Amino acid sequence: SEFAPRYDHVILGGGVAADAAARALREAAPEASILLLSADPHSPVHRPALSKDLWHGESADPDSQDLRTAAETGAEVRTGTLVTELMPRSHTVVTARGTVIHYGTALLATGSSARRLPGVDDERVTCLRTVGDYRHLRALATEGARIVVVGGGYIGSEAAAALTRTGAQVTLAHPGRRLLEHMLPASIAAHVEEVYAARGITLVPGFCLAGIESGPELVLRSGAGEELRADAVLLGLGAELNISLAAHAGLDLEGGAVVVDRFLRTSAPDVFAAGDVALFDDPLLGWRHVEHVDHAQASGAVAGRNMAGAQEPYEHTPMFYSDLFDDGYEAVGRLDTSLTLREVWNPKGTAAVVHYLDGNTVEGVLLWNTWDQVPAAREIIAASQEGTLDLAALDGMITPG
Ligand code: FAD
Repeated sequence: SEFAPRYDHVILGGGVAADAAARALREAAPEASILLLSADPHSPVHRPALSKDLWHGESADPDSQDLRTAAETGAEVRTGTLVTELMPRSHTVVTARGTVIHYGTALLATGSSARRLPGVDDERVTCLRTVGDYRHLRALATEGARIVVVGGGYIGSEAAAALTRTGAQVTLAHPGRRLLEHMLPASIAAHVEEVYAARGITLVPGFCLAGIESGPELVLRSGAGEELRADAVLLGLGAELNISLAAHAGLDLEGGAVVVDRFLRTSAPDVFAAGDVALFDDPLLGWRHVEHVDHAQASGAVAGRNMAGAQEPYEHTPMFYSDLFDDGYEAVGRLDTSLTLREVWNPKGTAAVVHYLDGNTVEGVLLWNTWDQVPAAREIIAASQEGTLDLAALDGMITPG
């Protein structure tokens, strides 16, 4: 492999974390050679738009979400390039076409893939993770088409809302009793369901998908023998971290994520990780991996600077957000409805701040239709973790709205 090309920095992945790393690296190391290898056929995109902005009419062109890493940073971007091996000892990676590439430092930013249904291979059944998926779903969502969205989580709920803008007939089938019930308090989940029904979405709770039969139409069957008929199906079954490269390379993994130190270094020399795949020690909330774009962006940037030789700790507690028709939220920490919830509403009942408590400790804050309060939410979590929060005063700390 002495003839193999060598780059100072090789980024594995072509998502938001990869893009942020390329930008930060270029700024910190103007002369360095940077190579970005992505299995996606297109440049990195701002993925949240695939279930939001792109459905709102004017900006339906997914190329408008192109992060244009290549053009802007001068990094060499090779799309459509699957990396099949990472070999930390020899500081090389191998692509599916057999190309061997040497690196000075490497970044694992391989993100997640949508969970699929084993044994289902029908082009009318899709998921929503990539630009290709987005284009495909748009093509399936013709006027009057019966589309069943399966899954009552983040992607299922956002995608169902988006699909109503196409004139398709949308059904949202999910195993729970209420939409988003694992993260939203019952009061808000009930409101979301009312809005969804008013927008013409048929909600089918308690539906545990067992299989899909392909015929002239698609037949979805639940474990309890219920049937739903559809022209197309969108699976919102969650995402799986892409860690096979890391696993084969022998990197330390825990709970299926790649363990990194405070500088985002993995257990292998000169190999960093950022974005969805990284298991990091959040200064407020402890060891966790976070599948949200704010974290992908922030950790990618820190990793990029550290690859260029900085010693910058990653000390960011990520926020996340979602839009559900005219409602929306920002949030920090664990939104887990098995915790104790404290809700404060505005007088009109349209906006709320919800604290998620484990005993006396605030683990998460949901800002429902409440804006510009993410720093305040972080401060509440921090004070609570330090034991300096007056719980009696909690309800007045952020005004909903
Ligand atoms: P990804 O964006 O998943 O990118 C991973 C990249 O690695 C891909 O380019 C992939 O092709 C590539 N790759 C994987 N394996 C290999 C390999 N072996 N060789 C080469 N390349 C490889 N988060 C929010 O906070 N708010 C939102 O509103 C929101 N909305 C979302 C809507 C949708 C439809 C989706 C799918 C996600 C949404 N998310 C949202 C989540 C957020 O987009 C992700 O957390 C974020 O994109 C993760 O970034 P990443 O760079 O770690 O990974």
